[in-house]
Amino acid sequence: MAATASGRHAWRQLMRDTSRRSVSTNGSNFLRYQQQLYRSPFSRQVSSSSGRVALRSPSSLLRQQQQQQPLGQRLYSSESSQGSGNTTPPPPPPPPKNSRSQVKFWPFVVVIALGSGGYMLLVNNRKEMPPTDKNAQGATPAFSPSEVTVLFVLGGPGAGKGTQCARLVNDYHFKHLSAGDLLRAEQNRPGSQYGQLIKDYIKDGLIVPMEVTVALLENAMRDTITESKGATNKFLIDGFPRKMDQALKFEEIVCPAKLVLFYDCPEAEMERRLLERGKTSGRADDNAESIRKRFRTFVETSMPVVDHYEKENRVVKVDATATPDKVYATTQEKLKNVLGDKL
Ligand code: UDP
Ligand code: MG
Repeated sequence: MAATASGRHAWRQLMRDTSRRSVSTNGSNFLRYQQQLYRSPFSRQVSSSSGRVALRSPSSLLRQQQQQQPLGQRLYSSESSQGSGNTTPPPPPPPPKNSRSQVKFWPFVVVIALGSGGYMLLVNNRKEMPPTDKNAQGATPAFSPSEVTVLFVLGGPGAGKGTQCARLVNDYHFKHLSAGDLLRAEQNRPGSQYGQLIKDYIKDGLIVPMEVTVALLENAMRDTITESKGATNKFLIDGFPRKMDQALKFEEIVCPAKLVLFYDCPEAEMERRLLERGKTSGRADDNAESIRKRFRTFVETSMPVVDHYEKENRVVKVDATATPDKVYATTQEKLKNVLGDKL
């Protein structure tokens, strides 16, 4: 319980930091972000005076809606405002005498003709309009998948995600964003309020509350795009999403992913690599006990994410047991099959 509560607090603070940084880096994205916040049930709200994100829980949003439209006063149709109980319509007024000579029909014909013409024009124009960025949840992701390419890179701890990502960066100019590295950087950032929280989760091999990780990734993507003036727009997101909620939220509010690059490796091999790495990595989770917990989290929590994308035909699976060179050759070949030679 305590971890969840402090996680929520961390999220609120982080989202405030997020909005401040966004204002200073990219105005138009920030505007989109603000618009999306108002629509999203993710319950982030931006104050128009200070530009800061104030977070509200989904239940408080619901309460507000109910206050605006109290039950029993909602109008389901215009008829309900006519009063209750009286189901007998009043008798129609008698037709005027000499009605043929008094009523002129041509104005009606003109109005109907104009209305139909306008409607046809609207229909034709709509056909030519580009599709909107809105997703099924009604939110607009911060980045459009037509402008930004996101590949999720998944695999058990020690599967070799980082090693393969470094090679892809070198050859195809991706930006590599490792969720674990971003969390460790935030943990070590002087003044960070989430240091202890992140430290505890990582040591126990658990998944840090998604709001923290999603915000760190979104900031890093925005910073990369801004700093490169839009030239870098292909991202390898390594070690994320590790849990279904992260996957859904990221695709809903940040950017839909093109595919998942999944490195498949037996546990015994991963354990051997991690213990070897632990001799020099200095990582608090590269020890036998943390490794065991990480394997468990991977099987129980992260594999369902891979299964989810597999059902959607969005997984490129690579056997990661061989040497780094061989695994990289397979990676290139399989990615090229899907994305074309330039990736
Ligand atoms: N982590 C997390 N959420 C993420 C990614 C990582 O909470 O989306 C935490 C988790 O505790 C994980 C640790 O960071 O065990 C290390 O992640 P990293 O990707 O560095 O490990 P790797 O799998 O590459 O060995
Ligand atoms: Mg890694």
